[in-house]
Amino acid sequence: MLNLLKEVIKVGEATTKYPLESLDLAPGFRGKPVYNPELCLACAACTTVCPPNALAMDTDTEHGVRTWSLFYGRCIFCGRCEEVCPTGAITLSPDFELAAFNKNDLVVRADFKLLECRVCNRYFAPGKELTYVLALLEQAGLPGPEVAQRRSLLEVCPECKRKCNVESIKRVGVGNPVEVKR
Ligand code: SF4
Ligand code: SF4
Repeated sequence: MLNLLKEVIKVGEATTKYPLESLDLAPGFRGKPVYNPELCLACAACTTVCPPNALAMDTDTEHGVRTWSLFYGRCIFCGRCEEVCPTGAITLSPDFELAAFNKNDLVVRADFKLLECRVCNRYFAPGKELTYVLALLEQAGLPGPEVAQRRSLLEVCPECKRKCNVESIKRVGVGNPVEVKR
């Protein structure tokens, strides 16, 4: 018994006073994801890799809005979203406390405007994504006229691209109608 007591005293306190005191977290601890809609492109990369489908993307093609959402109730803090995000819009934080009185408080949402196709005028892709791609091309040293030409191609939805003569799209400047060859 005496030996056991000596051992207990030697080991010291094995438990912590959490939640009365904050926990010492290990370096690299993966807590809940933090989202910055300013940096988000609504590209949907994170939603396709999220294992428990905590991330979702709903596209309303009638009103031209794409809604990004994260439900913390499903999140397993795996970090896949952070790995694939091209802009750092979603990153894991050390915060792991998610208690809420209302389930809706565990949802984060952001709306993004979709771009209209220059040919059929249907909404098809987030405008921010296109702007990002063009900025990358410029950064890579593509000359201004080339960037404008790429823009005219990118502003056409995939369905119309399949129907159009690509050369005719290239010839048409931004904001002008595109000749459709069917
Ligand atoms: S951390 Fe994992 S589970 Fe949570 S939102 Fe990101 S990908 Fe989904
Ligand atoms: S991967 Fe990043 S930029 Fe793309 S939708 Fe997710 S948070 Fe937004």
